[in-house]
Amino acid sequence: MATQTTRTAPVIGITMGNDLEKADRVALSKLYYQAVLLAGGIPLLLPPLTEKSPLRALYSLCSGLLLTGGGDIASDVYQTSDRSKLSYVDRQRDQAELFLTRWALDERKPLLGICRGIQTLNVAAGGTLIQDIPSEVPSALDHRASSTLPVDQMAHPVTIKPASILAQALFKNSPLSDQLLVNSYHHQAIARVAPGFSVSAQAPDGIIEAIEISEESVFILGVQWHPERMVPQDEHMVQLFRAFIHACQRR
Ligand code: MN
Repeated sequence: MATQTTRTAPVIGITMGNDLEKADRVALSKLYYQAVLLAGGIPLLLPPLTEKSPLRALYSLCSGLLLTGGGDIASDVYQTSDRSKLSYVDRQRDQAELFLTRWALDERKPLLGICRGIQTLNVAAGGTLIQDIPSEVPSALDHRASSTLPVDQMAHPVTIKPASILAQALFKNSPLSDQLLVNSYHHQAIARVAPGFSVSAQAPDGIIEAIEISEESVFILGVQWHPERMVPQDEHMVQLFRAFIHACQRR
């Protein structure tokens, strides 16, 4: 008699920042853990702890890591001087997420970075950031288009590298395409891509919209848009979360 393999729902660590307006609070959009639940994961919210030992204990409970959106990473983290365009810098969060991301990179634990999360991933792996797109890349599109549009509304297309892990995830249940419309709610972007990563999506202006480690059986991926705000209306984004959860289950 064939035995059905029981797949336990994987625990997904979800990072968050301090509420910078209320010093005794942390802040996280519910959409992140709702998307994790929808895709079959168990969310575990990770506070921005700067002490390594309890953070490592929480990390050890997780089969995967979700790096969420938020304010700007302090520029000294990637050895660049502050160009006076940073907002909502949260050094405790920077530190906690850098620890978590480097642990995940070391052991190739599945990781999905969203918006600030792709930037955290790139910086943790040795890359750099454009601190402010409008002032550093004046020819770029308005990537903050969603500040005037409803947040789930599409702002610009991205070109997706066909053989990428990203493309396999997004188009698992639909015809493969190299174009997709995404939302956009960022004023920073990746400048120098971290060693070991490749670009898997770009906006028409050349701004990097996704990076990944292209190794077999590895799911370490960052996107500059907000897929959690496009779930469940956009099946591609549901599939992106499902691919992440499946990668966590396989470990
Ligand atoms: Mn964008």
